[in-house]
Amino acid sequence: MNILKCDLCPNMCGVNRTIQPGLCGVLADPRIARVGLHYYEEPIISGTKGSGTIFFSGCNMQCIFCQNYDVSWRAKGYPISVEGIIDKIKDLERLGAHNINFVTPTHYSHIVKAVLTKYKPSIPVVYNTSSYERVEILKELDGLIDIYLPDLKYFNNDLSIKLSNKKDYFEVATKALDEMYRQIGEPIIENNLMKKGMIIRHLVLPNQTDDTIKILNYVQNHFGDKVWLSLMSQYTPEGDAKNQPPFDKPLKKIEYTRVVQWAKRIGLKNCFIQSHESVGECFIPKFEGDTLY
Ligand code: SF4
Repeated sequence: MNILKCDLCPNMCGVNRTIQPGLCGVLADPRIARVGLHYYEEPIISGTKGSGTIFFSGCNMQCIFCQNYDVSWRAKGYPISVEGIIDKIKDLERLGAHNINFVTPTHYSHIVKAVLTKYKPSIPVVYNTSSYERVEILKELDGLIDIYLPDLKYFNNDLSIKLSNKKDYFEVATKALDEMYRQIGEPIIENNLMKKGMIIRHLVLPNQTDDTIKILNYVQNHFGDKVWLSLMSQYTPEGDAKNQPPFDKPLKKIEYTRVVQWAKRIGLKNCFIQSHESVGECFIPKFEGDTLY
Protein backbone atom coordinates (compact mmCIF):
# COMPACT_ATOMS: atom_id res chain seq x y z
CA MET A 1 0.00 0.00 0.00
CA ASN A 2 1.84 3.04 -1.24
CA ILE A 3 0.09 6.36 -0.88
CA LEU A 4 3.16 8.31 -2.03
CA LYS A 5 2.84 6.75 -5.49
CA CYS A 6 -0.69 5.56 -5.07
CA ASP A 7 -1.17 1.91 -6.00
CA LEU A 8 -4.24 1.17 -3.89
CA CYS A 9 -6.46 0.24 -6.81
CA PRO A 10 -6.12 -0.90 -10.43
CA ASN A 11 -6.23 2.70 -11.65
CA MET A 12 -2.58 2.84 -10.46
CA CYS A 13 -2.52 6.64 -10.56
CA GLY A 14 0.96 6.81 -9.01
CA VAL A 15 0.22 10.22 -7.44
CA ASN A 16 1.45 11.37 -4.06
CA ARG A 17 -1.82 11.42 -2.18
CA THR A 18 -0.44 13.44 0.70
CA ILE A 19 -0.58 16.43 -1.66
CA GLN A 20 -2.67 15.41 -4.68
CA PRO A 21 -5.77 13.30 -5.25
CA GLY A 22 -5.90 10.69 -7.98
CA LEU A 23 -8.92 9.46 -9.93
CA CYS A 24 -10.74 8.67 -6.67
CA GLY A 25 -10.78 12.41 -5.97
CA VAL A 26 -9.49 12.38 -2.39
CA LEU A 27 -6.22 12.76 -0.52
CA ALA A 28 -4.83 9.95 1.63
CA ASP A 29 -6.30 11.30 4.88
CA PRO A 30 -9.78 9.90 5.44
CA ARG A 31 -13.03 11.69 4.69
CA ILE A 32 -16.38 10.18 5.45
CA ALA A 33 -19.82 11.20 4.27
CA ARG A 34 -22.16 9.38 6.60
CA VAL A 35 -22.20 7.09 9.62
CA GLY A 36 -25.36 5.38 10.77
CA LEU A 37 -27.54 2.35 11.06
CA HIS A 38 -28.72 1.19 7.65
CA TYR A 39 -31.77 -1.02 7.26
CA TYR A 40 -31.84 -1.56 3.50
CA GLU A 41 -28.97 -3.92 2.95
CA GLU A 42 -29.71 -7.59 2.39
CA PRO A 43 -31.70 -9.00 5.35
CA ILE A 44 -28.82 -11.15 6.59
CA ILE A 45 -26.75 -7.94 6.80
CA SER A 46 -29.33 -5.44 8.09
CA GLY A 47 -31.16 -7.81 10.41
CA THR A 48 -33.56 -6.04 12.74
CA LYS A 49 -31.19 -3.52 14.29
CA GLY A 50 -29.41 -2.32 11.16
CA SER A 51 -25.98 -2.47 9.61
CA GLY A 52 -23.45 -0.01 11.04
CA THR A 53 -22.44 1.81 7.88
CA ILE A 54 -19.48 4.12 7.43
CA PHE A 55 -19.59 5.75 3.97
CA PHE A 56 -16.27 6.97 2.66
CA SER A 57 -16.08 10.02 0.37
CA GLY A 58 -14.70 9.65 -3.17
CA CYS A 59 -14.66 6.54 -5.35
CA ASN A 60 -12.22 4.78 -7.67
CA MET A 61 -15.00 3.94 -10.17
CA GLN A 62 -16.56 6.55 -12.41
CA CYS A 63 -20.03 5.16 -13.02
CA ILE A 64 -22.12 7.65 -14.96
CA PHE A 65 -25.30 6.42 -13.26
CA CYS A 66 -23.96 6.72 -9.71
CA GLN A 67 -26.76 7.20 -7.17
CA ASN A 68 -24.37 8.88 -4.72
CA TYR A 69 -22.88 11.45 -7.07
CA ASP A 70 -22.17 14.08 -4.41
CA VAL A 71 -20.28 11.62 -2.24
CA SER A 72 -18.47 9.64 -4.93
CA TRP A 73 -17.69 12.26 -7.61
CA ARG A 74 -17.68 15.43 -5.51
CA ALA A 75 -16.16 13.81 -2.41
CA LYS A 76 -18.76 15.38 -0.16
CA GLY A 77 -18.00 14.60 3.47
CA TYR A 78 -15.80 15.65 6.34
CA PRO A 79 -12.26 14.83 7.45
CA ILE A 80 -11.76 12.37 10.26
CA SER A 81 -8.79 10.61 11.90
CA VAL A 82 -8.22 6.88 12.34
CA GLU A 83 -9.06 7.32 16.05
CA GLY A 84 -12.21 9.23 15.04
CA ILE A 85 -13.32 6.29 12.88
CA ILE A 86 -12.67 3.93 15.81
CA ASP A 87 -14.89 6.13 18.00
CA LYS A 88 -17.64 5.97 15.35
CA ILE A 89 -17.34 2.17 15.29
CA LYS A 90 -17.71 2.06 19.06
CA ASP A 91 -20.80 4.29 18.78
CA LEU A 92 -22.32 1.91 16.23
CA GLU A 93 -21.56 -1.06 18.47
CA ARG A 94 -23.29 0.70 21.38
CA LEU A 95 -26.32 1.38 19.16
CA GLY A 96 -26.65 -2.37 18.56
CA ALA A 97 -25.46 -2.57 14.92
CA HIS A 98 -25.19 -6.12 13.65
CA ASN A 99 -21.95 -5.35 11.84
CA ILE A 100 -19.56 -2.57 10.83
CA ASN A 101 -20.01 -1.90 7.13
CA PHE A 102 -17.28 0.04 5.29
CA VAL A 103 -18.93 1.42 2.16
CA THR A 104 -16.72 2.30 -0.87
CA PRO A 105 -13.49 1.63 1.03
CA THR A 106 -11.12 0.69 -1.83
CA HIS A 107 -9.25 4.00 -2.09
CA TYR A 108 -9.01 4.08 1.71
CA SER A 109 -7.90 0.49 2.20
CA HIS A 110 -4.80 1.78 4.05
CA ILE A 111 -7.15 3.47 6.51
CA VAL A 112 -9.35 0.37 6.87
CA LYS A 113 -6.22 -1.63 7.66
CA ALA A 114 -4.98 0.96 10.17
CA VAL A 115 -8.38 1.12 11.91
CA LEU A 116 -8.84 -2.65 12.16
CA THR A 117 -5.27 -3.25 13.25
CA LYS A 118 -5.83 -0.85 16.17
CA TYR A 119 -9.37 -1.92 16.99
CA LYS A 120 -11.15 -5.11 15.97
CA PRO A 121 -14.89 -4.70 16.57
CA SER A 122 -16.83 -7.30 18.50
CA ILE A 123 -19.22 -7.64 15.54
CA PRO A 124 -18.44 -8.73 11.94
CA VAL A 125 -16.69 -6.29 9.62
CA VAL A 126 -18.19 -5.87 6.14
CA TYR A 127 -16.17 -4.63 3.14
CA ASN A 128 -18.67 -3.18 0.66
CA THR A 129 -16.93 -2.63 -2.67
CA SER A 130 -17.29 -2.11 -6.43
CA SER A 131 -14.73 -4.96 -6.78
CA TYR A 132 -12.40 -2.77 -8.80
CA GLU A 133 -9.67 -3.94 -6.46
CA ARG A 134 -6.09 -5.16 -6.65
CA VAL A 135 -5.54 -8.67 -5.28
CA GLU A 136 -2.23 -7.54 -3.71
CA ILE A 137 -4.06 -4.89 -1.67
CA LEU A 138 -6.88 -7.22 -0.66
CA LYS A 139 -4.28 -9.65 0.67
CA GLU A 140 -3.22 -6.98 3.16
CA LEU A 141 -6.74 -7.09 4.62
CA ASP A 142 -6.66 -10.87 5.06
CA GLY A 143 -7.90 -11.76 8.55
CA LEU A 144 -9.42 -8.31 9.18
CA ILE A 145 -12.63 -8.65 7.12
CA ASP A 146 -15.45 -11.06 7.97
CA ILE A 147 -17.93 -10.38 5.17
CA TYR A 148 -17.26 -9.26 1.64
CA LEU A 149 -20.07 -7.44 -0.16
CA PRO A 150 -18.66 -7.00 -3.67
CA ASP A 151 -20.44 -5.83 -6.81
CA LEU A 152 -20.13 -7.72 -10.05
CA LYS A 153 -21.35 -4.93 -12.29
CA TYR A 154 -20.60 -5.94 -15.88
CA PHE A 155 -19.63 -8.99 -17.87
CA ASN A 156 -19.00 -7.16 -21.12
CA ASN A 157 -16.13 -4.69 -21.03
CA ASP A 158 -17.75 -2.52 -23.73
CA LEU A 159 -20.36 -1.82 -21.10
CA SER A 160 -17.80 -1.14 -18.37
CA ILE A 161 -15.94 1.25 -20.69
CA LYS A 162 -19.12 3.08 -21.57
CA LEU A 163 -20.58 3.30 -18.07
CA SER A 164 -17.55 3.30 -15.75
CA ASN A 165 -14.56 4.12 -17.94
CA LYS A 166 -12.92 0.77 -17.12
CA LYS A 167 -11.60 -1.41 -19.91
CA ASP A 168 -10.81 -4.42 -17.73
CA TYR A 169 -13.59 -4.48 -15.14
CA PHE A 170 -14.67 -8.12 -15.45
CA GLU A 171 -11.13 -9.55 -15.36
CA VAL A 172 -10.14 -7.36 -12.42
CA ALA A 173 -13.35 -7.91 -10.48
CA THR A 174 -13.43 -11.70 -10.87
CA LYS A 175 -9.81 -12.01 -9.66
CA ALA A 176 -10.75 -9.82 -6.69
CA LEU A 177 -13.77 -12.03 -5.96
CA ASP A 178 -11.55 -15.12 -5.97
CA GLU A 179 -9.24 -13.51 -3.42
CA MET A 180 -12.17 -12.44 -1.25
CA TYR A 181 -13.56 -15.97 -1.31
CA ARG A 182 -10.11 -17.42 -0.54
CA GLN A 183 -10.04 -15.29 2.62
CA ILE A 184 -13.61 -15.86 3.73
CA GLY A 185 -14.73 -19.29 2.56
CA GLU A 186 -18.27 -20.60 2.75
CA PRO A 187 -20.98 -18.55 4.45
CA ILE A 188 -21.70 -18.81 8.14
CA ILE A 189 -25.18 -17.61 9.05
CA GLU A 190 -26.53 -17.66 12.58
CA ASN A 191 -29.94 -16.41 13.72
CA ASN A 192 -30.62 -15.05 10.21
CA LEU A 193 -27.46 -12.91 10.26
CA MET A 194 -24.33 -13.43 8.22
CA LYS A 195 -21.25 -13.83 10.39
CA LYS A 196 -18.84 -14.68 7.61
CA GLY A 197 -19.13 -15.01 3.85
CA MET A 198 -19.63 -13.20 0.60
CA ILE A 199 -22.68 -11.67 -1.07
CA ILE A 200 -22.14 -10.71 -4.71
CA ARG A 201 -24.32 -7.80 -5.80
CA HIS A 202 -25.47 -7.18 -9.33
CA LEU A 203 -27.60 -4.24 -10.41
CA VAL A 204 -29.63 -5.15 -13.49
CA LEU A 205 -29.28 -2.38 -16.11
CA PRO A 206 -31.87 -1.29 -18.68
CA ASN A 207 -31.67 -3.15 -21.98
CA GLN A 208 -28.77 -5.28 -20.68
CA THR A 209 -30.43 -8.50 -19.58
CA ASP A 210 -28.03 -10.53 -21.76
CA ASP A 211 -25.14 -9.14 -19.75
CA THR A 212 -26.90 -10.02 -16.49
CA ILE A 213 -27.52 -13.55 -17.71
CA LYS A 214 -23.79 -13.97 -18.35
CA ILE A 215 -23.10 -12.74 -14.83
CA LEU A 216 -25.62 -15.19 -13.38
CA ASN A 217 -24.08 -18.05 -15.36
CA TYR A 218 -20.62 -17.05 -14.15
CA VAL A 219 -21.65 -16.95 -10.49
CA GLN A 220 -23.47 -20.26 -10.70
CA ASN A 221 -20.66 -22.04 -12.56
CA HIS A 222 -17.82 -20.52 -10.56
CA PHE A 223 -19.20 -20.38 -7.03
CA GLY A 224 -22.55 -22.16 -6.99
CA ASP A 225 -23.96 -22.25 -3.45
CA LYS A 226 -20.69 -21.17 -1.84
CA VAL A 227 -21.67 -17.50 -2.02
CA TRP A 228 -24.87 -15.47 -2.01
CA LEU A 229 -26.07 -13.36 -4.89
CA SER A 230 -28.13 -10.19 -4.61
CA LEU A 231 -29.96 -9.35 -7.83
CA MET A 232 -30.93 -5.70 -7.65
CA SER A 233 -33.66 -4.00 -9.68
CA GLN A 234 -33.56 -0.41 -8.44
CA TYR A 235 -31.67 1.18 -11.34
CA THR A 236 -32.57 4.86 -11.59
CA PRO A 237 -31.08 7.19 -14.20
CA GLU A 238 -28.77 9.69 -12.54
CA GLY A 239 -25.98 12.02 -13.65
CA ASP A 240 -24.81 11.67 -17.26
CA ALA A 241 -26.89 8.51 -17.65
CA LYS A 242 -29.96 10.76 -18.03
CA ASN A 243 -28.64 11.74 -21.46
CA GLN A 244 -27.52 8.31 -22.65
CA PRO A 245 -30.25 5.99 -23.93
CA PRO A 246 -31.07 3.27 -22.94
CA PHE A 247 -29.64 4.23 -19.54
CA ASP A 248 -31.96 7.24 -19.31
CA LYS A 249 -34.89 5.05 -18.24
CA PRO A 250 -35.54 2.87 -15.21
CA LEU A 251 -35.38 -0.90 -15.54
CA LYS A 252 -38.58 -2.42 -16.92
CA LYS A 253 -40.37 -4.98 -14.81
CA ILE A 254 -40.30 -7.43 -17.71
CA GLU A 255 -36.50 -7.18 -17.85
CA TYR A 256 -36.14 -7.95 -14.17
CA THR A 257 -38.61 -10.82 -14.44
CA ARG A 258 -36.56 -12.29 -17.29
CA VAL A 259 -33.34 -12.41 -15.27
CA VAL A 260 -35.10 -13.71 -12.16
CA GLN A 261 -36.56 -16.53 -14.24
CA TRP A 262 -33.12 -17.27 -15.66
CA ALA A 263 -31.61 -17.43 -12.17
CA LYS A 264 -34.27 -19.97 -11.21
CA ARG A 265 -33.75 -21.93 -14.39
CA ILE A 266 -30.02 -22.40 -13.83
CA GLY A 267 -30.59 -23.38 -10.20
CA LEU A 268 -29.20 -20.39 -8.32
CA LYS A 269 -30.42 -20.93 -4.79
CA ASN A 270 -28.65 -18.48 -2.50
CA CYS A 271 -30.14 -15.46 -4.18
CA PHE A 272 -31.90 -12.33 -2.97
CA ILE A 273 -34.32 -10.67 -5.30
CA GLN A 274 -36.13 -7.43 -4.64
CA SER A 275 -39.41 -7.51 -2.85
CA HIS A 276 -41.79 -6.02 -5.40
CA GLU A 277 -41.24 -9.02 -7.67
CA SER A 278 -42.82 -12.38 -7.13
CA VAL A 279 -40.43 -14.68 -5.42
CA GLY A 280 -39.94 -18.16 -6.74
CA GLU A 281 -39.66 -20.95 -4.24
CA CYS A 282 -36.00 -21.42 -5.05
CA PHE A 283 -35.31 -17.93 -3.76
CA ILE A 284 -34.47 -18.51 -0.17
CA PRO A 285 -37.39 -17.31 1.73
CA LYS A 286 -35.38 -19.32 4.23
CA PHE A 287 -34.93 -15.96 5.89
CA GLU A 288 -37.98 -13.77 6.10
CA GLY A 289 -41.22 -14.13 4.17
CA ASP A 290 -40.96 -12.64 0.75
CA THR A 291 -39.68 -9.21 1.69
CA LEU A 292 -36.06 -9.67 1.02
CA TYR A 293 -35.04 -6.03 1.10
S1 SF4 B 1 -6.84 4.79 -4.86
FE1 SF4 B 1 -7.25 6.70 -5.97
S2 SF4 B 1 -5.25 7.64 -6.37
FE2 SF4 B 1 -4.91 5.52 -5.74
S3 SF4 B 1 -4.73 4.38 -7.64
FE3 SF4 B 1 -6.88 4.25 -7.02
S4 SF4 B 1 -7.94 5.98 -7.97
FE4 SF4 B 1 -5.72 6.35 -8.12
